Amino acid sequence: MAAPRKPVLRRRADPIVKKKIEPRQQVSLEAGGGRVIANDHLEVADRRLPLVFLQNKRARRIILRLDHGKARIVVVLPTRATRKEGHRFLLQNKGWIRERLELMPPRERFRHGAVIPFMGVEHRIRHRPRAVPGIWREDNTIHVGGPREQVSKRVENWLKREARRELERRAQVKAMRIDRTITGLTLRDPRSRWGSCTPEGVLSFSWRLIMAPRPVIDYVVAHEVAHLKELNHGGRFWKLTDTLTRHMESSRGWLLQSGPSLHRYG
Ligand SMILES: [Zn+2]
Repeated sequence: MAAPRKPVLRRRADPIVKKKIEPRQQVSLEAGGGRVIANDHLEVADRRLPLVFLQNKRARRIILRLDHGKARIVVVLPTRATRKEGHRFLLQNKGWIRERLELMPPRERFRHGAVIPFMGVEHRIRHRPRAVPGIWREDNTIHVGGPREQVSKRVENWLKREARRELERRAQVKAMRIDRTITGLTLRDPRSRWGSCTPEGVLSFSWRLIMAPRPVIDYVVAHEVAHLKELNHGGRFWKLTDTLTRHMESSRGWLLQSGPSLHRYG
């Protein structure tokens, strides 16, 4: 399939699953918004976490949240609040942070020795300096040949290639079943959705899906392919999706529960 890589205009945002809103995040404020005014660290639950203070004019009160992707704590301050007040609020809510931390394993970069999921199965990354440059997968190990430089970037690029192959293959088969054509497939790294579909028939997916279990990948593909016929989330859409995958309900649950954890890799 010809897969244009240039960004396409999305007329319809299509969130499959919104990330669960943290209790203290639900203010009229976009996640992450604000100007960085200070960086610090906080020791909590035997871990030392980066701490960032943001100032945001639109914030109406001090907001605390955990940034899963970057494994850091964010304190958003309204204009009138001082950093000291932010710090006090942070310490008052240390228990809340500790609780949330238990649900947030540390960030895992793509480097020698790291364990990452590949289609839902844990694989260890093994750098092989003397092997020919290249990446291959064997017995739950991802071997990375060649120089140490850019092991991380190369693993990420490899995951993206694998994601494209897997997603394209499944999307083609499913589109054929409902007599529709895919005009393009793009990979992105959005924070809060796993796929989308444009009226022109371009499907877009998070490359991180390649780390999810196969049934979940299958469901997300089915979901977006179903949009080629039903560009809505009505009853007919869900019925159609259900005919394109056997894993709809379980995968929706998985994405809600475990989807955000895929953002801690790389
Ligand atoms: Zn949808």
